Amino acid sequence: MEIEFHGAAGEVTGSCHLVNVGGKRVLLDCGMVQGDRDADARNAADFPFDPKTIDVLVLSHAHIDHTGRVPLLVKRGFAGPIYTHAATADLAAVLLADCAHIAGMDAREANRDLAPGQKPVQPLYVQDDVDAAVKRMQPLAYDQAREILPGVRVTLRDAGHILGSATIELAADENGATRRLVFSGDLGPNGTPILCDPERVQAADLVIMESTYGDRLHKTREDTIAELAAIFQAAQRDGGNVVIPAFAVGRTQELLYFFAEHFDEWDLAKYRMFLDSPMATKVTAAYDRHEDLFDPEARQLWSTRPHPLRLPNLKFTAGTDDSRAINSIRGGAIIMAGSGMCEGGRIRHHLRHNLANPAAHIVFVGYQAQGTLGRRIVGGAKHVHLFGDDIPVRAHIHTVGGLSAHADRDGLSNWYSAVAGHPPVCLVHGEEDGRDGLAAYLRQKWGCTVNLPMPGVRVTV
Ligand SMILES: [Zn+2]
Repeated sequence: MEIEFHGAAGEVTGSCHLVNVGGKRVLLDCGMVQGDRDADARNAADFPFDPKTIDVLVLSHAHIDHTGRVPLLVKRGFAGPIYTHAATADLAAVLLADCAHIAGMDAREANRDLAPGQKPVQPLYVQDDVDAAVKRMQPLAYDQAREILPGVRVTLRDAGHILGSATIELAADENGATRRLVFSGDLGPNGTPILCDPERVQAADLVIMESTYGDRLHKTREDTIAELAAIFQAAQRDGGNVVIPAFAVGRTQELLYFFAEHFDEWDLAKYRMFLDSPMATKVTAAYDRHEDLFDPEARQLWSTRPHPLRLPNLKFTAGTDDSRAINSIRGGAIIMAGSGMCEGGRIRHHLRHNLANPAAHIVFVGYQAQGTLGRRIVGGAKHVHLFGDDIPVRAHIHTVGGLSAHADRDGLSNWYSAVAGHPPVCLVHGEEDGRDGLAAYLRQKWGCTVNLPMPGVRVTV
């Protein structure tokens, strides 16, 4: 077995690893590059391999940086099966459709002022390409080995990162022995609401592991809950709205879980709640369809409290008229809307109507990348531009940490420590600091060999 690293090698996004095994080629993930200045060009570029030569694709989870180029892979000639968890297949259909929609809008925008003779921009892919990719998906359950090629078996383990997320175990019979490659996928922290903790893997000859927060330790969940409690207390005192730029997958559902858990304590019955994001609503419905994957605490919770995904005073607003109607509410509402970094979507309307209000509270619950509107607000901007208007920032601005969907350094190290014999590990899905920090820590703590592969590097299992 031999691995070639083609993405998320030396960076976080664009996860893509090619495994050559028994004369066949298995691709692990096929993600988009995100946030990079050259992202569009890199996503549209040729694959570093011929898609027609790939026999099987296995997906770790539905996030776009792990699946975003799958429709393109199919469009360019990949004709094999796609194995992934049933919930990932469900979520990926929603997220990839959104990608195709955005690509279509961007292309139309770019083609508006085309000079005569200039070639129109084509979207990366369209909904038909998404449909063709989704049709190839073969749903798997956790912990059940499936023979995907003669002598090659795949087993998915719960990675506790988002619904359906998996660690991929690939076992191959070679010359009378079994070789095992384990790809962690993205690993969640222990204790994430709704989801089970990441499952430990017992045996591997080589581990490919993520390192997003390899140099950091997260705040405790208790601190996070205390921060949220304080915000709701202040919001009740001030009488304004609470506006939350929400990430559609995971973070939104996690917040709803906290709302259910602390429904009485935070006096949430007094609020009108809105999930004003068609995308987050579809994702929440997908979570609801896979209740069998939830952890025992979640099931226990809604035997005594309101079901987090169906809170009595929560309204899922679908149409733009319903969304616009929220704009007239001056206080007593909790408004969750996308996008999480305020770069697009309905949140921009809600910010326009609440940012100037000193009684309003804006709550950021996730990472805000450089250059985004979210980052400017978090960074203390006194004014922002929205829809051509200059809006003064007078609302209270909060940044709530501790809701990360990724394990921190200790979480990653503990997960790795369970693998018998501490085999060599290749670190991916991390920027330089995260990767280097985790590499030094693992070498010192477990005495293992740590590789930091760059794109194009090959490693033999
Ligand atoms: Zn992810």
